[in-house]
Amino acid sequence: MTQPSTTTGGDVRLDGISKTYGSFTAVHPLDLHIPAGSFFALLGASGCGKTTTLRMIAGLEEPATGTIRLAGDDVTALPPHRRPVNTVFQSYALFPHLDIYENVAFGLRRRGIKSVKKQVGEMLDLVQLGDFARRKPQQLSGGQQQRVALARALINHPRVLLLDEPLGALDLKLRRQMQLELKRIQTEVGITFVHVTHDQEEAMTMADTVAVMNGGRVEQLGAPAELYESPGTTFVANFLGTSNLIEAEITDKSGGDLLLTAAGGRLTLPAGRCSAPARTGAAVLVGVRPEKISLTPAEDTGAVPAVRNRMTGRIADSSFIGVSTQYVVATPDGAELAVYEQNIERDPRLVPGAEVVLHWSPAHTFGLDPAQDID
Ligand code: ATP
Repeated sequence: MTQPSTTTGGDVRLDGISKTYGSFTAVHPLDLHIPAGSFFALLGASGCGKTTTLRMIAGLEEPATGTIRLAGDDVTALPPHRRPVNTVFQSYALFPHLDIYENVAFGLRRRGIKSVKKQVGEMLDLVQLGDFARRKPQQLSGGQQQRVALARALINHPRVLLLDEPLGALDLKLRRQMQLELKRIQTEVGITFVHVTHDQEEAMTMADTVAVMNGGRVEQLGAPAELYESPGTTFVANFLGTSNLIEAEITDKSGGDLLLTAAGGRLTLPAGRCSAPARTGAAVLVGVRPEKISLTPAEDTGAVPAVRNRMTGRIADSSFIGVSTQYVVATPDGAELAVYEQNIERDPRLVPGAEVVLHWSPAHTFGLDPAQDID
């Protein structure tokens, strides 16, 4: 494949950017640095302010306060076409009367560039549509049309590409394919991608860094694994998968660990993994992801290594889903925990009604402050 002409990604720096509509604050003053060449996702539920943030970077919305720097330059007062950005929207907005080649060439021709063949060829190769150049948009699938939209944006060599739910109109299977495709293209071109999505799996699949937004604020920023393994708030814990939050109390401290008591168990929490005040007597919400928990029938309790966190429970439900079995386990205080076990050697005793020990490594435990709102 031909290497496309290179463009260096630029960084994005937001300082105190905010947006209000009348008395409503859609984005609270926000400081954010998106490194050059990274794949960055703004993730959050509908209405959290992610699109507004993206539109302010694009120049399509004027911020109430703050400054926006792109590749080192203050662009806050510049109109969209004078910023080194391009945006890809969910609606591809391709020109129906032009073929794919001319759709991709459009930006170059508008700038008066006559010799477009090499660049258009490179772009079509990049998005793997070299054989489709003479087709009209309506003769392509949704995923292919989205790739044309991408090529059309990239051919202008933006320093930053903004993507607003670009895969939202695609069915699930195509979405998954396009996620990998977008990641490959971003790595190849090296342009900074800022991607808005409400789909946590999509953000985690593609992005180097994810900013989880809630109520017009960035609630947590980090690499996907970091956010998933060490969420700092209940909102982030629940938004990024199933979190299994258990009410517990700090009863003691030992070295760098907190010792906790919960109904049905005594737990150890490394102090560095607790975002709640680490005082003896303080309440903590203990979280553990479902796939980190193992189940052992209660009669085999002695076989569970002493270093493991453990709780007692009773299997309330189980669903075999091929690669894993998903259990719901009721704890003595009536809480229900989700447990996903890989189907490697299934213990036939793990059936609804069975008394079990749930156990997991303290390193996979996180502690949250119950004083925060639970969304
Ligand atoms: P979605 O995924 O639904 O697009 P979002 O997280 O991108 O949601 P925004 O579009 O940024 O959310 O909107 C943030 C908030 O600002 C919402 O409550 C929305 O109703 C409000 N809002 C957005 N645009 C306007 C506008 N032009 N006038 C008034 N309120 C607006």
